[in-house]
Amino acid sequence: MVEATPNGSPRGRILVADDEPHIRRLLTTLLEDASFEVDCVVDGNRALERLEGDGGYDLIVLDIMMPGATGLEVLNRLRGLEHRRGVPVVILTAKGQDADRDEVFNLGADDFVTKPFSPKKLLARIDEIFDRG
Ligand SMILES: [Mg+2]
Repeated sequence: MVEATPNGSPRGRILVADDEPHIRRLLTTLLEDASFEVDCVVDGNRALERLEGDGGYDLIVLDIMMPGATGLEVLNRLRGLEHRRGVPVVILTAKGQDADRDEVFNLGADDFVTKPFSPKKLLARIDEIFDRG
């Protein structure tokens, strides 16, 4: 259940793309408890389908290693989509892939979080992105 904000509406809608079921479950609970609406997809191709469509998303959480398109490919395509250009992206990636960090920021990601991650810290970073508008 999405908890209402003081004005009664969700704070925003977040697309989560990750192939690991436990990460999707964890993020759904975490974000819904923080009054966000959450839409989960299980691979990069489905993420692209959603993003090429016209569903409204206020933030995207992207895993890098996924079947189909990787998170980096999704991010790259995303930045070329007129209607998604300004949408903040948080990259979630497995430890030991820090070499991706530069590439991720060059492609226009807003934040980079390494798995295993602290749910509380991830939420704080997402809050920060929302609060800065
Ligand atoms: Mg993965």
